[in-house]
Amino acid sequence: MKYINEGKINNLLASEARAGFDRLDAILEKAKSLKRLSLQESAVLLSVSEPSYIQKIFAAASFVKDKIYGRRVVLFAPLYISNLCKNSCLYCAFKSDNVSIRRKALTPSEIVSQTELLLKQGQKRILMVCGEAAPEGKTNIDYYVEAVKAIYRAGVGKNKIKRVNINCAPLSVEDFRELKKSGIGTYQLFQETYHQETYLRMHPKGPKSDPDNRLDAIDRAFTAGIDDIGIGVLYGLYDYKFETLGLLSHVEHMEKEFNVGPHTISVPRIEPAEGVELSLNPPYKLSDDEFKKVVAILRLSVPYTGIIMSTRETSQMRDLLLSLGVSQVSAASRTSPGGYSDLDKEDASGQFSLNDHRSLDEIVGTLIKHDYIPSFCAACYRKERTGEVFMNLAKPGTIKGKCSMNALITLKEYLDDFASDRVKELGYKMIERYFKDLEKKDQERLKLFFAHVDSGVRDEYV
Ligand code: SAM
Ligand code: SF4
Repeated sequence: MKYINEGKINNLLASEARAGFDRLDAILEKAKSLKRLSLQESAVLLSVSEPSYIQKIFAAASFVKDKIYGRRVVLFAPLYISNLCKNSCLYCAFKSDNVSIRRKALTPSEIVSQTELLLKQGQKRILMVCGEAAPEGKTNIDYYVEAVKAIYRAGVGKNKIKRVNINCAPLSVEDFRELKKSGIGTYQLFQETYHQETYLRMHPKGPKSDPDNRLDAIDRAFTAGIDDIGIGVLYGLYDYKFETLGLLSHVEHMEKEFNVGPHTISVPRIEPAEGVELSLNPPYKLSDDEFKKVVAILRLSVPYTGIIMSTRETSQMRDLLLSLGVSQVSAASRTSPGGYSDLDKEDASGQFSLNDHRSLDEIVGTLIKHDYIPSFCAACYRKERTGEVFMNLAKPGTIKGKCSMNALITLKEYLDDFASDRVKELGYKMIERYFKDLEKKDQERLKLFFAHVDSGVRDEYV
């Protein structure tokens, strides 16, 4: 694969496994000063197996997470618009030769109604997801743009979706320009595996079978002006240490070529998918302990990047990973097109099974109990704090102040409009607590915003 040097990664993993504890301590000190780690330093951390040192890595990750992000956690919901796909990824229920699932591509009006169901729960940020194939007679880009517009068109009272991120197949520069114009936030694309031979085996057919085209898609998206980009590994396909260094090599490439690292990193683990043999027994299944280690090391290696966790993980694991570095979580998700219509029904056309079945209200309640501020904010995107501008605020940790203010405003909006009585009680108390800690001038500003929210204004931000 282009600019993923397998020989170098293997050599680093072999040589750095012998690093002494002094070296480890020095790396953790560097990470705590919020500096990006080199590939070599990340290789040292990945090689650690001594339990007391793993605990030190966890403590450093919590420290960095708190310094950059404060206590806020961003919430979003995925919206699967279609499960049509012409690829044959060996791990996914949407693969073209899987006859066990019902195929469906939502129409624009169905997308509006699914979005309105999400708005009624209190969601404000959507990750639009689909397989790589458009409905009959449409090109991919036309279908995506139509869908993004439908999501932004939806409304429930004064509540609208504030940000649509998108996880869809690679496009040409020209089509990425179209996508950008439709108003998307982050463009996400996971390389799945950075190991060439595994990549070729896992993607035997269809446009996705070319690994360099997929890797290049990130460069094409940047070239088209999309500067918030999300990358990821699908853990379980190959050795996790190699994959993590592959991903970090990709980060280096992005920084070198575009002066901007990834806006987000996703860390999905393979989950059981209907009719898909490999998903039941992934070749390199990642244990819970390895998974925690990966999240903590990513947090230390790329401190400015958001780490996303989906409902593939259990509620216990998700709550724990928040302290190690995760900054965005999905809530009350469905992975089938149309899946929000009847929440009690089994997902007959879903992509994979989920392990966290709590409602948005329950998740908000748990976050508050653990002293995390649930946030539905999309201010950075609205204020054009994207790409390099965002990175420059995130790197020294200065984004934190803005994030906490915005999180409190959006939390109040959620509590006023959607929360259960129990969550309202917890949430208003949290707001009071955090309000007291603000400087006088910020308290005055926040009071003004809250007065606007009380008078019915929605979607306030700094
Ligand atoms: N079809 C596009 C693609 O493959 O890039 C975008 C959407 S695809 C539905 C989103 C992601 O789901 C994939 O990139 C892959 O990492 C993940 N995925 C696929 N099968 C999975 C499984 N069995 N368990 C967990 N995640 C899975
Ligand atoms: Fe299609 Fe994406 Fe699933 Fe592969 S991962 S089969 S491209 S939906």
